[in-house]
Amino acid sequence: MNTSRAKILATLTVTIAVAASVVFSGCATAVLPSDAQRVTVIPKESAAIEVYRPKLVVKNGNLSLQALVFRQWKAATTADSHVDLVFLDAAGKELSVDTTNFTPRSIPTQVRGPKPNGYVSVPVTLPPGTAAIEVRGHDGPHEQRKQQA
Ligand SMILES: [Zn+2]
Repeated sequence: MNTSRAKILATLTVTIAVAASVVFSGCATAVLPSDAQRVTVIPKESAAIEVYRPKLVVKNGNLSLQALVFRQWKAATTADSHVDLVFLDAAGKELSVDTTNFTPRSIPTQVRGPKPNGYVSVPVTLPPGTAAIEVRGHDGPHEQRKQQA
């Protein structure tokens, strides 16, 4: 009888611990996984867009990249531009490139008030060995790099 009671208590304790960890992992201020904490995120502007304050966050349980995008002063339009995510290793070698869009596609010119901005929010998977991500404005279509034979 004592043994079964101890078993029930043990089961209860485990259940409570699991429930508590589920509650904590669902918390809004989720901590970045350790491989993501080591990654430097670097903005690079193009002629048409400026990438501002790119950062890695955990959103809905997924590692995501967020950034603001501003229209450059002299740019006629931002509708033809996009953002490249260039994953680099510690030696600066390209591991992979993802392309993503910002919304809205056409960032209006500033008439008055705060500067209008676009927004990037995209789930990312870090290739093994990622040390940095360049968040690079790119005007015009993204051309796939030819595979080397
Ligand atoms: Zn591109």
